[in-house]
Amino acid sequence: MPLMSGTEFLQVVNELQPEARRVLLTAYADSAAAIDAINKVKLNHYLMKPWEPPDQHLYPVLSDQLEDWQAGNRESFEGAYVVGTRWAPDTHRLKDFLAKSQVPYRWIEPEGITDTRVLAALGEKPPVLPVVILPDGSVLERPELSQLADKLGLVTIPSRRFYDVIVVGAGPAGLACALYGSTEGLKTVLLEREAAGGQAGLSSRIENYLGFPSGLSGADLARRGVAQVRRFGTEVLAPAEAVGLVVDGEYRVVKLSNGQELAAHSVVVAAGVQWRRLDVPGMDRLTGAGIYYGAAITEASSCKDEDVYIVGGANSAGQAAVYFCEVARSVKMIVRGDSLSRSMSHYLVERIQTIPNISIIPNAEVVEAGGQDRLEDITVRHHDTQVTEKLPAAALFIFIGAEPHTEWLDGVVCRDGKGFLVTGANLVQNAKRPAGWNLDRDPYLLETNVPGVFAVGDVRDGAVRRVANSVGEGSIVLYFIRQYMRNR
Ligand SMILES: Cc1cc2nc3c(=O)[nH]c(=O)nc-3n(C[C@H](O)[C@H](O)[C@H](O)COP(=O)(O)OP(=O)(O)OC[C@H]3O[C@@H](n4cnc5c(N)ncnc54)[C@H](O)[C@@H]3O)c2cc1C
Repeated sequence: MPLMSGTEFLQVVNELQPEARRVLLTAYADSAAAIDAINKVKLNHYLMKPWEPPDQHLYPVLSDQLEDWQAGNRESFEGAYVVGTRWAPDTHRLKDFLAKSQVPYRWIEPEGITDTRVLAALGEKPPVLPVVILPDGSVLERPELSQLADKLGLVTIPSRRFYDVIVVGAGPAGLACALYGSTEGLKTVLLEREAAGGQAGLSSRIENYLGFPSGLSGADLARRGVAQVRRFGTEVLAPAEAVGLVVDGEYRVVKLSNGQELAAHSVVVAAGVQWRRLDVPGMDRLTGAGIYYGAAITEASSCKDEDVYIVGGANSAGQAAVYFCEVARSVKMIVRGDSLSRSMSHYLVERIQTIPNISIIPNAEVVEAGGQDRLEDITVRHHDTQVTEKLPAAALFIFIGAEPHTEWLDGVVCRDGKGFLVTGANLVQNAKRPAGWNLDRDPYLLETNVPGVFAVGDVRDGAVRRVANSVGEGSIVLYFIRQYMRNR
């Protein structure tokens, strides 16, 4: 293309076909062209010339890109349908579950359905909304998630009662732990309350994970992680929620919310954190009906050409803003501090500053949400003037930090004042080991006060909340599990 550079070509492609995967072929060592393209067209991959032999250097890359594209592609559509009104929290619950479970789906409002497959499945009788229509034609009216999971063929029943390692939580930490457990030949089961991927699965673009210069979406990371752990024999149960832990001599027994119990030599808690709730009038009532915690990816398509408000000034809020700015008319970030730079990575602050339809409302907080059956307005208080103003709003996304939910371990595993699990050297105070500890050694790094029970990733007291850290801890914990099993 003598008249156009590859990057210019991809810029045009980006406008015409934003869903297309973008791969740049560059001359060997021309990383400047690749970096330019990463910044300008959100490149998915760059290939160096020469790419021969193609079955080593070209085909695997293209297959990988096609698989990622297919996982999110809505055009050649053979997936599920969700029929439900935008403002119904139940519709959001189902969409969120399908999105997190990587099940391709299309959401349609009940009014004016034209799709013949949907009309045929619904028949004459008005259905109880929301409805999920599965590719085999079965219709589920306002289903429970467990019912939907069953129908989708997700595995929720364990194949055995006893394992070497039970991992609770399938975020990056749990997936890494399961991978290393299985590759080392340990019988490993991975329990996930919602859908594999954890918080990282909500990230529209992770750019600081080593080895992915163009970044990758959390959904892609989750899908690849799950495929990898399954390949090595990890049993993945989802949805499956751990609700209790019992120490029975040598065995560690995990109780599930459906009444089942699983036992193992060792348990790894990789349960991460959850969004903190914004506790102001109107929030709880309108959650799922215009107010969402995280969920940027699930709800983005509903916000086309709307004004979107985001609460929060950390990286997750910044990523969401960058994601929404392509569909929404405007994105307004409400932040408590006077700027983003205090809480957000430098690369994201710089990016946001160049995007014209993102604006920041600093020194401010949301003090009320209003609306009958759906969000209609928010009240914002400006700290510097103490003025409050009511702003019309259809969509509010909240990213105000997160906290662990480890109540189910209370009384068994040591938690700090905020619920994070205490591990390793932090358990030894004034040279005294934790109460009840009866081994002739200190707790290992990442081990809790219960021998053989470990904590990794964001749920751990003092963890660095990053994908790389979670993957790192999930990987190295296997070394300590081995030590524990050998020296019991
Ligand atoms: C929107 C967003 C963007 C982000 N972007 C980046 C980024 O660009 N770079 C970066 O490095 N970090 C990023 N982070 C942070 C990163 O995602 C987290 O640090 C990382 O996901 C933590 O991994 P984890 O496995 O410890 O926990 P999580 O990812 O929180 O996973 C924990 C899993 O455990 C499950 N679980 C919890 N309790 C139970 C239970 N009782 N039973 C069964 N399952 C349970 C949860 O459902 C969840 O799936 C981002 C976070 C968010 C929310």
